[in-house]
Amino acid sequence: MKNIEIFEESKKYMPGGVNSPVRSYKDVEITPPIMKKGIGAYIYDEEGNRYIDFVGAWGPMILGHCDEDVVKAIKDTCEISIAFGAPTELELKLAKYMCTTLDNFEMVRMVNSGTEATMSAVRLARGYTKKDKLLKFAGCYHGHYEGFLVSAGSGVLTEGIPGSAGIPQENIKNTLVGQYNNVENIREVFNEYGEELAAVIIEPVAGNMGVIKAEDVFMEELRRLCDKYGTLLIFDEVMSGFRVSYMGAQSLFKVKPDLITYAKIMGGGLPCGAYGGKKEIMEKLSPLGPVYQAGTMSGNPVVMAAGLAALTKLHDNPKLYEHIEALGTKLKQGLETIAKEKSIPLVVNRCGGMMTMFFSDRDKVSCYDDVMSCDTKLFKRFFTHMLNSGFNLPPSQYEAMFLSVKHSYEDIEKFLEAFRSFEY
Ligand SMILES: *Cc1c(COP(=O)(O)O)cnc(C)c1O
Repeated sequence: MKNIEIFEESKKYMPGGVNSPVRSYKDVEITPPIMKKGIGAYIYDEEGNRYIDFVGAWGPMILGHCDEDVVKAIKDTCEISIAFGAPTELELKLAKYMCTTLDNFEMVRMVNSGTEATMSAVRLARGYTKKDKLLKFAGCYHGHYEGFLVSAGSGVLTEGIPGSAGIPQENIKNTLVGQYNNVENIREVFNEYGEELAAVIIEPVAGNMGVIKAEDVFMEELRRLCDKYGTLLIFDEVMSGFRVSYMGAQSLFKVKPDLITYAKIMGGGLPCGAYGGKKEIMEKLSPLGPVYQAGTMSGNPVVMAAGLAALTKLHDNPKLYEHIEALGTKLKQGLETIAKEKSIPLVVNRCGGMMTMFFSDRDKVSCYDDVMSCDTKLFKRFFTHMLNSGFNLPPSQYEAMFLSVKHSYEDIEKFLEAFRSFEY
């Protein structure tokens, strides 16, 4: 069947034809290609069209599609074990690997998605501090848990939904929304609510309003305020973990988190998530402590094996990150040069293997307000041009694009060529 036929049929059985809203390409008003196959940096749709992929399943495919080591780990494991709902040595292996190779990560609980990781981390923080309020930042996305769907990023930003229907006011009354990179703002929030704040959750390198790195002074002030008021600081590294470097965003700052959440890359492309941090806090989780959280599929052997294969490869081969860094530098510089030549208003933010091209005439994009200044009509034309030129990019101005270790210099040159031929 053709892409459009499959998509039309899909709409009959799945709302909007998709299982996650951003995939519908609603924002760019195009029928999405229906993907069939992925090898390395390339993906192929049902009509056999090839795309150089800069979405990478929204981050997880940092090793490229169907990496041989990850595929082997999956195949070998599922020959003998698919699920037990019982302890396995494989989950110990991944847990131990994460706790010994990552900073500030003494104990971990495996879950099945980023949403589960962040929502459980917040519950744990509330149970540990015996306080209720949560501070998140406008433009940051932490999954679709009710308490987060207030001024969220990602699909929620794209769709311009203030939050979501179906969320009782009561369930978000403990969520406060702060301004990213605004020191004055967080001082005010803590001044007023510090005593009631259980946790602050932040993407230290935001990716869900496009890529924006938090400023050092902002992070340092956050840590200081959290310490002062007995509030836990949660780094949501679901996207940035193993992405901006193996150590993730936390390695870019002097401040340490109390809890960290991971997902995306850590499952090697299979559904997964994890949250962890200080032992003293993690021991409040059931069955040791009073905070309940469970999962039939949590720590699934096939997922653990895929995750372990991916993380081991990334950890043992620093050259992979160097390659991504070199490609990223070349791409950003090239895009900036071309934009200048063609007088296209463009700000490129990049952090390791994640990058956003903001079509904005501001000098820099460093907060949610800057992001909102972007020319989404221009983005839409750019996106369509790139798709037609064989590039799979995130179909929204407010998302990050991702590099993989399988991208080549030639792929980057092709990207630049395509951008050069964009009729602005
Ligand atoms: C993707 C993402 C999530 C949600 O993860 P899911 O696996 O989609 O539930 C949470 N936080 C951040 C920072 C993310 O990028």
